[in-house]
Amino acid sequence: MCGIIGYIGSKNATPIVLEGLKKLEYRGYDSAGIASIDKDKMSILKCKGRIRELSNLVKKEHLTGSVGLGHTRWATHGEPSERNAHPHVSCSGKVAVVHNGIIENYASLRTLLEDEGHKFSSDTDTEIFAHLVEKFYHGNLLKAVHEALALVEGAYAFAVMCEDEPDKIVAARFGSPLVIGIGKKGEYLIASDPIAIVAHTRQVIYLADNEVVMLQTSGYRVTDRDNVEVEKEVENITWSLDKISKDGFSHYMLKEIFEQPQTIYDAMRGRLSKEKNDIRLGGLESHLKWLNKGEKKTTGLDALIKAKRIVIIACGTSWHAGLIGEYMFENVLHIPVEVEYASEARYRNFIVDKDTTVIAISQSGETADTLAAIKEAKTRGAITLGFVNTVGSSIARETHAGVYLHAGSEIGVASTKTFTSQVCILALITLLIGKKKRIIDDKRVNTITEALFNIPQQVEKILKKTNDIREIAKRYMDFNNFLYLGRGYNFPIALEGALKLKEISYIHAEGYPAAEMKHGPIALIDKNMPVVFIATDTEDQIYQKIISNIQEVKSREGQVIAIASEGNELIEKVSDAVITVPKTEDFLTPLLTVTPLQLFAYHMALLKGHDVDKPRNLAKSVTVE
Ligand code: GLU
Repeated sequence: MCGIIGYIGSKNATPIVLEGLKKLEYRGYDSAGIASIDKDKMSILKCKGRIRELSNLVKKEHLTGSVGLGHTRWATHGEPSERNAHPHVSCSGKVAVVHNGIIENYASLRTLLEDEGHKFSSDTDTEIFAHLVEKFYHGNLLKAVHEALALVEGAYAFAVMCEDEPDKIVAARFGSPLVIGIGKKGEYLIASDPIAIVAHTRQVIYLADNEVVMLQTSGYRVTDRDNVEVEKEVENITWSLDKISKDGFSHYMLKEIFEQPQTIYDAMRGRLSKEKNDIRLGGLESHLKWLNKGEKKTTGLDALIKAKRIVIIACGTSWHAGLIGEYMFENVLHIPVEVEYASEARYRNFIVDKDTTVIAISQSGETADTLAAIKEAKTRGAITLGFVNTVGSSIARETHAGVYLHAGSEIGVASTKTFTSQVCILALITLLIGKKKRIIDDKRVNTITEALFNIPQQVEKILKKTNDIREIAKRYMDFNNFLYLGRGYNFPIALEGALKLKEISYIHAEGYPAAEMKHGPIALIDKNMPVVFIATDTEDQIYQKIISNIQEVKSREGQVIAIASEGNELIEKVSDAVITVPKTEDFLTPLLTVTPLQLFAYHMALLKGHDVDKPRNLAKSVTVE
């Protein structure tokens, strides 16, 4: 979280930095700030709130200078306020720092610096770094940054400018993303995400952990923590910025919900072939690789097929996709699976060894907890696979093999399209392993392939109900609590539906396995507690059981909103509101049942007047612990 951008070149840095910050606003929007150096003089402007507030400030002040840094904040240490907004400066005001991450030993460093006479003017952990650089500065910014870094514990992406060396930006990374952009004629950029700089260059270098870069108009130099020069590969961005517009939709979230027929198709495109009855996942091709423990093992699909156990690591919405993966792998493939919250896994003795294959699921590929858990799993000898959306992201690089979602940029803070892409990839893998292990015969592979190819148009059909869903949202918008219940493959959808409602509507909602209701939550049921049942027809007995659960709610005056299969008259009769979805294979139903719940949360939030794309307290791409 937090977005960083820096520019050095011959143009006025301010408009470039501001434009970049707008693109990074999804990463945080508590406060924003900008620093630039002109004629050896540093100017800083910052404010509480959004980039538009900062733009208004800039209009009045006319910042000039061809070196600049910008920041949009998601507060971890210190309330969102102007005082805590980045850039932070040292006592002399000559060193300016922007930061993404957390300095974990900030309290002891602050005491040390205060004892030495440094005066602090914010409550942030970040400000420490400006003072540390000042402490070590004796005419060499790069050296001072290296020395300051040696004292810092935690995760960071820092970018630093110094009034005494106005022709430089020094940046460093450990655990938070940073990308360098190589522009035209002595122009260089640095940012937390390439979307902030792609308007200026497609030539980028991804900084790795423990690397430090110095940008000057004469060139760039990347060094490791021992100040030894590192040779870096220059990569070419192939996607374009048009993909990141709202495309006529009122919100990114709505656009992304409506993109799902395409993004689900894109997750399968070139991978699943009806004609050849074949599934190919290039990123999972098995290769022999040396592992950390000096052992040679095959990665990719082989690692999944041979695994005695699979552990899926994720956070938030991706964790819900992971749960669906667990149901698929265990039900269809009979492989034991555990789904772990990355934040928990990394700090407990989660049992992962050389016979375990670990899958990390993340939209951004930068989720700090997931990345740390992957690193831990590798040290224990496990093969790791990454299912991420962002090409070249840290998790994509850290894992032995993986599959990209190909969903395009997701800007709405509440994930939607990347969830369905994740579920789609998990379904493809289930099908592929099932075919290889001959658990699923060719005829069945055909049927499932057809069902998968039907999903995009089925989602399209559900999206046409957006107005009906809005009407249902209107009826229920004044309720303060919701229960979401589902069973089997739709239990994770109950969790996901509840999460969407919490995230953007700020309405309390809980997801439960439907049958668990009688073990506690049923005590909450009365006429003020709407219950959303995900109750599609199934091939097993689950459907009958869920009908009984609906009756239990009805007999206690509960309001029932049902997501049901088309043509199911019984559910229509017993429910207060119904949204129907087309029929598909059981294990593919989550791809359909989640859509109405995404739209329900969206309309609720809109009706309540909330900022759907930037919900309070949240930010996308959680790069802090
Ligand atoms: N810890 C810094 C702050 O609170 C940066 C937070 C972040 O990267 O999210 O300002």
